[in-house]
Amino acid sequence: MKKKAWKARQYKIRNNPLFRLIPGMTDEYFMRLALAEARKAFAAGEVPVGAIITVGEQVLSRGHNMVEKLNDATAHAEMIALTSAFERLGSKYLPDATLYVTVEPCLMCTGAIYWSKLARVVWGTDDEKNGHRRITCDAWPFHPKTSLSKGILDEEASSLLREFFQSKR
Ligand SMILES: [Zn+2]
Repeated sequence: MKKKAWKARQYKIRNNPLFRLIPGMTDEYFMRLALAEARKAFAAGEVPVGAIITVGEQVLSRGHNMVEKLNDATAHAEMIALTSAFERLGSKYLPDATLYVTVEPCLMCTGAIYWSKLARVVWGTDDEKNGHRRITCDAWPFHPKTSLSKGILDEEASSLLREFFQSKR
């Protein structure tokens, strides 16, 4: 997207009442929104993973795991939030956006994050079993310009997963 068009779109987003502007927003604040998405998945009988994509202090898109509902093994929270963000911005890359996801992304979502050229990825709890690092190990799997933070509200995200899998036993 041309810079002028991007700016015009940002202006439109800023003035859209759908995007809440609250001063002093933090990683924790946005991770709580991602956790709310994860709880929606839980309530629907899906593995509780949630994601939020932000630009600045604006929430651009939300997603939660919908593998069961859509009968689609690729319908992870990150994929849903990314697709919705591309559509909303009319852009195939998200160089100004941050993705908040409650659980370490899997290899597939890590590939999608790479291609989307996100500015930043923030995840909650590590996923020893299905997280991408089991395969990528110490290699940097994201775009070189993407930065990473992790461990934000990890206890909340992991206890939600534990609760879910215990209820399935
Ligand atoms: Zn995934």
